[in-house]
Amino acid sequence: MSSLKSINFGIDLGTTNSSISKFENGRVTVFKNPLGLKETMASAVAYRKDRIILGDKARELLKVDPFNVFTGFKRRMGTDQKYYVVNLDENVTPIDLSSQVLKELKQFVHSGEKINAAVITVPASFDTMQSNATIKAGNLAGINDVVLLQEPIAASLAYFNNQNIQNQEGNWLVYDLGGGTFDVALVQIKDGELKVADHEGNNFLGGTDIDQEIIDLIVIPQLQKEFDLPDLSTELKHKDGKYESLYYELLYRTEEAKKELSFVKETTINFQIKVDKEVKNIELSIFREDLEKLLQPIINQTIHQLKKIIERNNLVTNDINEILLVGGSTYIPLVKENLKATGIPVNSQLDPTTAVTIGAAYYAANKLYKVTEEPLSDLSFDDVFNNIVNKQDTIESLPLEILLNYSKMSKDLEEVVIAK
Ligand code: ADP
Ligand code: MG
Repeated sequence: MSSLKSINFGIDLGTTNSSISKFENGRVTVFKNPLGLKETMASAVAYRKDRIILGDKARELLKVDPFNVFTGFKRRMGTDQKYYVVNLDENVTPIDLSSQVLKELKQFVHSGEKINAAVITVPASFDTMQSNATIKAGNLAGINDVVLLQEPIAASLAYFNNQNIQNQEGNWLVYDLGGGTFDVALVQIKDGELKVADHEGNNFLGGTDIDQEIIDLIVIPQLQKEFDLPDLSTELKHKDGKYESLYYELLYRTEEAKKELSFVKETTINFQIKVDKEVKNIELSIFREDLEKLLQPIINQTIHQLKKIIERNNLVTNDINEILLVGGSTYIPLVKENLKATGIPVNSQLDPTTAVTIGAAYYAANKLYKVTEEPLSDLSFDDVFNNIVNKQDTIESLPLEILLNYSKMSKDLEEVVIAK
């Protein structure tokens, strides 16, 4: 016996952070990590001798055990890159690492439900190899039915559902500045179809690059002003450098400071450094003003790509309804300011770190998968439909109310209508 069921689960398998959500009773819930109660989890995997640690805890281990902790592997999906794990004395692939993240996300769903099917989002720039690698990672994590959805489409669905936009035709730009990548997509609704009409991006531009620049242009010069440390940069960044573990700590502390500076104008970074065998307690002040100076060239690059898309598609700014903000780095006030200066309205109504997972769940609500209780019989949707029609004579005399559930907007040529 088999029956058809809505997928309902949506997963944002991100470069830096991942999350899982579910459509239920007309709304979407983003599941919280039982540890720390955050809605997103760092896409990080740490191999200890006896077990695997996932998420934010794994990411923290980077500074003490960099050879057994892996991050950023989404950028290598679809390649034959191998990561050597010292603790295991074996290689793992980006697919293995991604499947570990997916397995952990499944644990967030406290109802104990089996997650056999899910919509998993991928960047608009993913090719067939990268997409297939994502499906494989899902399968390895026990998700037998994986439906891929482009991240900008997912984000648009979240924004559109939030504002009840259903049949409005037009153009939107999805501006996604995350931890490791920048993506901007032109999303169109035309003849009722929602699609990515064009996209641009930079696979090596994001929050992590900002953190590194803070260290290079603010932290290191300040330390050098105070102490005589001419080789500080090399000693921090090189494998086996004198200050290698301090570098990982600084990356962590500067990221925290950067996030704070989206809401306050000044903050401090505290850490210890050993100079001439003496441990010094350091407290550095960081100002939003200084951060903005180093941010401006980075933001300029993104605006340049955004304008390139508009021009390439023979559009003018007036043709774009809104810029939809996605990705944690869009919390930065200077990013919003620069985007507003384009003259296009900027929509930042949603939490930019969960818009993609929420949209994936909306999409999943209208996608069906086959649930098999016994050996799979080949019951197609047509069979199910005919079955219902053939039984009509028995229900003819009854008052009949039919509840329909369907996507009011589709990017596919064929759509599913669920009737009850
Ligand atoms: P990804 O899509 O790359 O997996 P996210 O969209 O979650 O990741 O973005 C993560 C990035 O957003 C990190 O670099 C993080 O430092 C940055 N970020 C998160 N919150 C803020 C904030 N309040 N201000 C500035 N940057 C932030
Ligand atoms: Mg993302």
